[in-house]
Amino acid sequence: TANIEAVAIDEGPKPRSKNLDVLAEFEKSRAKNAANFIVIGHVDAGKSTLMGRLLYDLKVVDQRTVDRYRKEAEKIGKSSFALAWVLDQGTEERKRGVTIDIAMNKFETSKTSFTILDAPGHRDFIPNMIAGASQADFAVLVIDAGTGNFESGLKGQTKEHALLVRSMGVQRIVIAVNKLDTVQWSKDRFDEIQQQVGAFLTAAGFQSRNVAFVPCSGLNGDNIVKRAEDARASWYTGPILIEQLEASEPTNRSLDKPLRLTIADVFRGGVQNPLSISGRLDSGCLQVGDRIVTMPAKETAVIRGIEVDLEPADWAVAGQNVVLHLTDIEQQYLKPGDVICLPSALIQNVTAMTVKILAFDHLTPMHVEVHRGRLQVAGRITQLVAVLDKVTGAMAGKKKPRLVQPGSVARVVVQLDSAVPLEAPGKVILRAGGQTVAAGLLE
Ligand code: GDP
Repeated sequence: TANIEAVAIDEGPKPRSKNLDVLAEFEKSRAKNAANFIVIGHVDAGKSTLMGRLLYDLKVVDQRTVDRYRKEAEKIGKSSFALAWVLDQGTEERKRGVTIDIAMNKFETSKTSFTILDAPGHRDFIPNMIAGASQADFAVLVIDAGTGNFESGLKGQTKEHALLVRSMGVQRIVIAVNKLDTVQWSKDRFDEIQQQVGAFLTAAGFQSRNVAFVPCSGLNGDNIVKRAEDARASWYTGPILIEQLEASEPTNRSLDKPLRLTIADVFRGGVQNPLSISGRLDSGCLQVGDRIVTMPAKETAVIRGIEVDLEPADWAVAGQNVVLHLTDIEQQYLKPGDVICLPSALIQNVTAMTVKILAFDHLTPMHVEVHRGRLQVAGRITQLVAVLDKVTGAMAGKKKPRLVQPGSVARVVVQLDSAVPLEAPGKVILRAGGQTVAAGLLE
């Protein structure tokens, strides 16, 4: 009969630290900049088509795939959908047991490797967008320049989305003024849109140096990866979209800050790597051999192996998505949402927090669920401190309001049912009754 008794796993020799100066290694490696961005804008602005075009022109997808999509799209009389479908291919929900929270698409240029968070597809799904915005280094806002469409977009989701990403801490925004082919590449139209949207974005708290406009046509591929050849477009000589994306290097990579990695997933990777975690480094750096602490459990572990973008590595830095293979720890101390730190600079476990939020619903003192990435904790809004001016962040209206209206920015205090690792400027989402009621930053 088979021996089904548990066999002790040989973890092999203890990992030895190479004692690398990780920041120096990072500089030396000429590692590409990694940048995550989110695509926002009104439904039908052309988000999917534009991203499909970007991936196609950068040769992330091949001609055969696009031809196949085109045939399928023609069958249903929507040939222009072919580019939008490009986005859906390559979305991997699960690779080697690593759950990826949000639909992601990756591509790279010679300078930067990009991740499109929450590739939009044909959805318009606010909770997904919030999750994406909380990991974004910058946002791409797509606007339909078409007659009447820009105006209805402004009344629609354009402003709401921009305000949302700003309240989640996104500082830089690139505006693709799209479908300029439908208005004969009118410079007047572009200028008018730039003026109106620029004024709104400034009011929403974006600094003008962090706002860039590009006139383009996603459908035709003009000013996306290649400069428009249409003579009517010759008035524009500024950076094209891909150049603006490359200029959007992570604004605050926080390499020299304390290590913070929020666990996205915990999994058993096999005999070689019995216990592994995945997540993105929010700040700091780490290397093989480092002893780490997991919070809130305050248990230590040793890093025996690192994978960056699923390739083995000796070290990792802020902004990278990693898998860590751990030793010297029990699985029970590692949960999605927990935070990994170094013993020298622990994150605090807190039971109360003050947050500056954008309200999506009426807020009163009420029960809420607090989400930060995969961290989830029940709590209660105990105090509405003040409603704030969206532009200046200064107090607007009276102190201690009894109600916060949807669309307002406010400061609130939330008591938590259990102590969890949270610190400013962490991005949190408040949910109640299955709905997202607010999102914002810890103070
Ligand atoms: P989304 O809802 O923002 O993802 O928009 P889609 O990418 O699905 O595009 C909506 C519609 O606009 C589709 O019929 C596209 O073919 C069309 N479209 C997208 N980009 C352009 C463009 O640059 N020029 C023109 N003329 N049409 C476009």
